[in-house]
Amino acid sequence: MKKNILDFSKEELKSKFGFRAKQLYHWIYQKEKQNFSEMENLPKKLRAELEESYKISNLETLQKQEASDGTVKYLFRLPDGRTVETVLIRMREERVGESGDILQQARYTVCVSTQVGCKVGCSFCLTAKGGFVRDLSAGEIVEQVLTIRRELQNSTKENVVYMGMGEPLDNFDNLVKAINILQDENGLAIAPRRQTVSTSGISTKIDKLGSLDLGVHIAISLHAVDDEVRTELIPMNKAFNIQSIIDAVKRFPYDNRKRVMFEYLVIRNVNDSLQSAKKLLKLLDGIKAKINLIYFNPHEGSEFQRPTEKSMMEFADYLNQRGLLATIRASKGIDISAACGQLREQNL
Ligand code: SF4
Repeated sequence: MKKNILDFSKEELKSKFGFRAKQLYHWIYQKEKQNFSEMENLPKKLRAELEESYKISNLETLQKQEASDGTVKYLFRLPDGRTVETVLIRMREERVGESGDILQQARYTVCVSTQVGCKVGCSFCLTAKGGFVRDLSAGEIVEQVLTIRRELQNSTKENVVYMGMGEPLDNFDNLVKAINILQDENGLAIAPRRQTVSTSGISTKIDKLGSLDLGVHIAISLHAVDDEVRTELIPMNKAFNIQSIIDAVKRFPYDNRKRVMFEYLVIRNVNDSLQSAKKLLKLLDGIKAKINLIYFNPHEGSEFQRPTEKSMMEFADYLNQRGLLATIRASKGIDISAACGQLREQNL
């Protein structure tokens, strides 16, 4: 069976093909070629050898849905027939130009999956409903970004968030490899500071990631301030409780000009009281944090409800007035089920 060349770091390719590895990376990631035969500066013999043993494309786009807010959800089929979803989020960013005028700039974030299904089993999450199937290889993670890059044909560098299906830190080695492949200067050159690993809070793995000092951001899906409530939402909290996560975040080698992102999925009458906001403030004391408050999006079969706008505003105001930066995240792609916790494996 042919190997997926996207699974190989440049160093690994160097050990096989010497200086040609750099050229290979250039053709695959910068020229976005999908056939070895088009890689003109490689010797014919090498192209034939590559053709025989490797493939470049692995994912098949089965479906592409665009939401009214411009968010696009892709359903990709993997070679073994399993499927994953990937989301492209478009935003407009304003920046001041050289002459002082305000320039509008498109910004893209690709939300990638790292596993088919997930072991964590969060009670609010659709991905969890299908159970865990398997880890994605590094190449399967990388190709989600590459496929979308090929389509966008843009020169703007995208951000990558490991926030799709799966718990990234549960697929640690492939995650780290994907981060390194994506950041390679001869590849897509997506700097680590543009990559965010979102985790449900495996504290030991947060430490492990921190020890590598890759320069990536982390985002923590906190969602509750009491262990009892959090365990109900994220059963894994039994093994890695709130305090252990906060301690691990404090040890993480963070660029202190930036803030650690905490995701807080607000659920009516579960974690939306000012009492919870007060505890949150205390918990994050000493961390340069930013809280992303996310409306819970009800889906079929879920017993939880969306909070009211009023309670959401009060919650955010309470934190902001006391110095904890809190934003209410507009859920992107609600009408195509591309929002947080709504991705899943599908059989078409
Ligand atoms: S929310 Fe994330 S960590 Fe939790 S079950 Fe869903 S995919 Fe897994």
